[in-house]
Amino acid sequence: MDKNFNPVPKPSHNRRVRKQGDRNKFPKEVRDQIKEHFDNTCQMCGNSGVHIHHVRFRSQGGRGVFTNGLLLCNSCDRRIHDNHELNIYWKEQFLRKYGPTYYMDEEDKKHLEELDK
Ligand SMILES: [Zn+2]
Ligand SMILES: [Zn+2]
Repeated sequence: MDKNFNPVPKPSHNRRVRKQGDRNKFPKEVRDQIKEHFDNTCQMCGNSGVHIHHVRFRSQGGRGVFTNGLLLCNSCDRRIHDNHELNIYWKEQFLRKYGPTYYMDEEDKKHLEELDK
């Protein structure tokens, strides 16, 4: 056996800054967490939830983090994208629940802290 072989994944804090695109995607673990949190149920109509919606859109800097994910069915996801008021409504819900950094990942928050100094 190769003595350099190391099956244990390195701790994530050793990972370098991820690419911009990846940070906006919901990783598998986060998708599972969100589905479990919302009981696999669409939060708008109660059907089975299959789509994880970015409450703050990726184009607006919304990250693939637990606190930016809303579980919907496909047709409610289309509705929320077509309806500005629905979109605002959910942003307000998440803002109230998780605070103004709800759509940020750890790196974004770190940046904020640095700016504060
Ligand atoms: Zn639905
Ligand atoms: Zn969506």
